[in-house]
Amino acid sequence: MEPRNDFAVAIDVGGTNIRAALVSRDLKLSGENRRRIDKTSPTALLNEMAACATEALRDSLGVSGIGVAMKGYVDTRTGITIASGNLGMKNVPVGPFLEDRFGIPVCVANDVQAATTGELRYGAGRDFRDFIYLNVGTGIAAGLVFDGRLCRGAANLSGEFGHTTVDRDGWPCPCGQKGCLEEIVSGPGIVAQARRKLQKYPDSLMRRSIESGELTASRVFALADRGDEAAKQVMSESAEYLGDGIVNLVNLLNPEAVILGGGVFTDAESFIKLLEQHVRAHAIGEAVRSLRSFETSRLEVDKAGLIGAAALVFARENK
Ligand SMILES: [Zn+2]
Repeated sequence: MEPRNDFAVAIDVGGTNIRAALVSRDLKLSGENRRRIDKTSPTALLNEMAACATEALRDSLGVSGIGVAMKGYVDTRTGITIASGNLGMKNVPVGPFLEDRFGIPVCVANDVQAATTGELRYGAGRDFRDFIYLNVGTGIAAGLVFDGRLCRGAANLSGEFGHTTVDRDGWPCPCGQKGCLEEIVSGPGIVAQARRKLQKYPDSLMRRSIESGELTASRVFALADRGDEAAKQVMSESAEYLGDGIVNLVNLLNPEAVILGGGVFTDAESFIKLLEQHVRAHAIGEAVRSLRSFETSRLEVDKAGLIGAAALVFARENK
């Protein structure tokens, strides 16, 4: 049996930055560091990940392993990142490279599956056997937990909820399809809706933020709360689109809880309220009755990625 050490090195590879930290079993973070991602080659990125891990490891005593959360399609069994579009990676052996370099076990997973593992071990998911973790930020994805276990799918691709088709004649999506949910209600999708709404409401308070390139979903929701008609419409239409998507998930999977994470749910109280009302009004009655909780993640947004990456290591010991 492998020794159970009290720390894991967590590496969170986002769209622009790599972050790393040493994470203890009781979630104390130390040795936190970050770098801008070098996208010139997969080798450059691997070396940066190793440098971040080395920095995080500086004060460590006993480390159980390295957990890596990254965007894209990841084969968790081999630790190979099969494809990560925005990092330009294809078939990159992230796990084997770090294992060679550090001589300890490495667990690699896609960012949302890692975040779901974090919820399951440390977050709101501890209280439920069946739940959906829904992440809405620059993209949209879901982590599905049945009977206390993350459902990964045949090729570890489960959870691509953002590419649910909601409008066959809708906007083109980078995945090659049209009218994906992600194009409408991800953070950038909500901003795009706001931009279209200005044609009808040129005096909207959203205009100034759009022109300065600073409009975010939470700003839209704040302006809706202040009574701006166009922002109110964007917020309620977003709640309907995303709500319909969640209704489908709830009817299909019958979860006890829906846990919301990601930037779009930060400072979004009114939006979340509308969303829950929509789901409870439109999902099948029995499924709604067993939906005990509709809540935001209790993990801090900026730490959730690192906590998820560390949870991959600690969860592995329980298998
Ligand atoms: Zn798509």
